[in-house]
Amino acid sequence: MWTTSVTTAITCISITMKISDLTNSQGLEISIVIPVYNERENLTLLDEKITKNIGPLHKSYEVILVDDGSVDGSAQLIRKLQDKNPHLRLIRFGSNHGQTAAFAAGFSKARGDTIVTMDADLQNDPADIPILLEKISEFDVVCGWRHKRNDPWIKKLSSKIANSVRNTLSEESIADTGCSLKAFRRACFKNIKLYNGMHRFFPTLMKMEGFSVTQVKVRHYPRMHGYSKYNIRNRLFTSFKDLLAIRWMKKRQINYDIIEER
Ligand code: UDP
Ligand code: MG
Repeated sequence: MWTTSVTTAITCISITMKISDLTNSQGLEISIVIPVYNERENLTLLDEKITKNIGPLHKSYEVILVDDGSVDGSAQLIRKLQDKNPHLRLIRFGSNHGQTAAFAAGFSKARGDTIVTMDADLQNDPADIPILLEKISEFDVVCGWRHKRNDPWIKKLSSKIANSVRNTLSEESIADTGCSLKAFRRACFKNIKLYNGMHRFFPTLMKMEGFSVTQVKVRHYPRMHGYSKYNIRNRLFTSFKDLLAIRWMKKRQINYDIIEER
């Protein structure tokens, strides 16, 4: 018990210290952070597509693949891909900790001035990354909007309901906050403390910190290999509880104006 809490405390301290590095540029232009949970069959093509679309931009970049406790050999394959591609970095969790934890670990190690997030399963298209990067010169956060979803009808319907409930309850106007394809200026993560499930609310969290947010239409493809890690219970019901937390945070945000200080 004692050992666990000490270990947890040490982990938290080191995460806080690393995230504070997000204040300063770490010398690269772009970090692409991708959570990976049992995506072995998608990784080779993902690597090829990123290289094909980011290489011609002539920007310095890294691709951080965060293996969230995969048991299908994803990490072994990533190591093989690293032999050919020096842009690839691997962060591997000992077990499955969830998509937000994977993003958080990736952000804490990212060296880019701009941080791009996406999924590993090729439902997002790396060819859309340049479109996000173009907009990041004007906005702090650029969110992808999957205007033509290529998912089973049940997922499309639940996502529609989720987006509308989310926007109503959190007084938001983001068409598709569940799309992982996003770009952020590095500073966005400086003061944000992430909790499980919070990756679905990045735009709201960023707005609460005073950052500007826009959205651009992006492509979306059906999943060709592997399986979706979410179902009605762990997506819709859990994220509804998370939404109530976000609503509370938004309503209780501290706001003050100092009119004199002597
Ligand atoms: N993922 C992860 N940890 C998890 C669940 C998902 O790293 O516990 C990754 C997964 O490998 C993928 C992305 O998060 O790269 C989105 O997951 P998925 O494609 O299953 O979600 P969906 O598209 O069905 O909403
Ligand atoms: Mg997917």
